[in-house]
Amino acid sequence: MDNVASLLIKHDLYEQVETAVYGELKAHADEVMQALREWPVGTAKRVGAYGCVMLSRVKSRRMLRMSSLAMSSDQYDNTLLHEVAHIIAWLVFDARGHGYYWRRMAALIGVDLYMEHDPKFMESIAAHRVKKTKLVALCPSCDKKWHRMRSFSKRKTWWCPSCKTRLHTF
Ligand SMILES: [Zn+2]
Ligand SMILES: [Zn+2]
Repeated sequence: MDNVASLLIKHDLYEQVETAVYGELKAHADEVMQALREWPVGTAKRVGAYGCVMLSRVKSRRMLRMSSLAMSSDQYDNTLLHEVAHIIAWLVFDARGHGYYWRRMAALIGVDLYMEHDPKFMESIAAHRVKKTKLVALCPSCDKKWHRMRSFSKRKTWWCPSCKTRLHTF
């Protein structure tokens, strides 16, 4: 499995992180770099998130996830650094979220805090949603169809809003 350090190397970001960490977090630098070498990398499941990170004292629960949807390489790099800043802020300062310590660490390792949303990523989300949509209900009377990502709840009865017939749900 990939780890955060090897992903940083692959994206030419390792040196900038390492230099910043050894420059500013001297007493914690070894611990931080060691954690990045052990921190596993996976794929983000939530559509719409560029990436996310699971922070835990239990090493087996640690994970950094990157979206598998297409995004610009600038966006990918910035997302990776954004998540790494979470890891460092949490390891060194026990800080979660996007508060003071995260912003300090983000600035330290070179996260662009003002990057615009990536249009390429927005397009791939839209495409992904279309692909995932399925026929979830149809009206047997007027033939109106409903296409959604998720099925209608089976615990409820659904009625056609136009002709008040009970819908077939799938
Ligand atoms: Zn974040
Ligand atoms: Zn109908």
